[in-house]
Amino acid sequence: MTANPGSDLNQQALRTDVSGMPLEWISYRQAVRFYHLDVVAYTCGALLYEVHGGINAITGKRSIVEVNSIIATRGNVKGIHKIRQHYLAPLNNTALFKRDGHMCLYCGNKFRSKLLSRDHVTPISRQGQDAWNNVVTACRRCNNHKAGRTPEEAGMELLAIPFTPTHAEYVYLQGRRVLADQMKFLLAHFPRTSPLHDRLSREMNTLV
Ligand SMILES: [Zn+2]
Repeated sequence: MTANPGSDLNQQALRTDVSGMPLEWISYRQAVRFYHLDVVAYTCGALLYEVHGGINAITGKRSIVEVNSIIATRGNVKGIHKIRQHYLAPLNNTALFKRDGHMCLYCGNKFRSKLLSRDHVTPISRQGQDAWNNVVTACRRCNNHKAGRTPEEAGMELLAIPFTPTHAEYVYLQGRRVLADQMKFLLAHFPRTSPLHDRLSREMNTLV
């Protein structure tokens, strides 16, 4: 399997179900496999890469698969809407820092991931949960200053209210490098009232 020179094979494609609900990020190998399994219903977005396969023994022609940035697949989606309703995104720091735009929600400064930490708004020692709606991104300094106290006790103010991402939002948060067309597509599935919807819409507008 070879690809066109110049195409970036590290770029992931966004897989959706046949109704266009975002499912996951897939590598070019997974994308090609879906084509070979003949489960690709349609594609949208830009052409990511052309992957050249083996030579057909009968026709003598080399197979070429064109992979787009968004791929809708058939099958294996039974009950997925039900799952999504009760979906709870797993909590991890990479997704958490991305949810908060790599900004410390106490001092408002942006930091690299290495310098950030997970702060429990209501501390665990006070029965606070290790859950999306009780955790925020905080720089080390603010986290140390706050220590085992609530924001009120520490005289600190939260710049945003922590929220639990929906399934579509979590797909976005897991993306390593999200292309503009994939972003636009995902954004359409975010709740209108979501802070992430607001922030990313603004970012998209500055790109245009
Ligand atoms: Zn801070």
